[in-house]
Amino acid sequence: MSARLAHICPTCRRIVPARQSCARCAPTEAERLEAQPFRRAYRDPAYRRNRLQRYELAGGRCESCGVELKGRIHPDGEPWQSDHHVPASAFLALPELASAVENLRVYCTTRPGRRGCHAGARKPAS
Ligand SMILES: [Zn+2]
Ligand SMILES: [Zn+2]
Repeated sequence: MSARLAHICPTCRRIVPARQSCARCAPTEAERLEAQPFRRAYRDPAYRRNRLQRYELAGGRCESCGVELKGRIHPDGEPWQSDHHVPASAFLALPELASAVENLRVYCTTRPGRRGCHAGARKPAS
């Protein structure tokens, strides 16, 4: 299995380093926020704080497959990822509720040979 080193921007067809968006065509963060205001929920300091609490609540395990998350390093330097259970887009009027501990879930990230639950491998919510 070899990592892809580059991809082609679908808009301008230029070659872009792997895992990066095209510097010419990518929307700025301001444009992105205007198009998808719910993205603010991910920058909410409460989100950053509460997801640690959620991690504790989940006993340090993926809330879908149950794998231990400790030591699983995400490219961002984090060993796991968190997500909003009810999408943040549903909380436009009260964005702070999107980041409540009750609405967060922690999931494993992709690791060799297995797609992580955060990347969509999670079991359907029951
Ligand atoms: Zn481009
Ligand atoms: Zn998992």
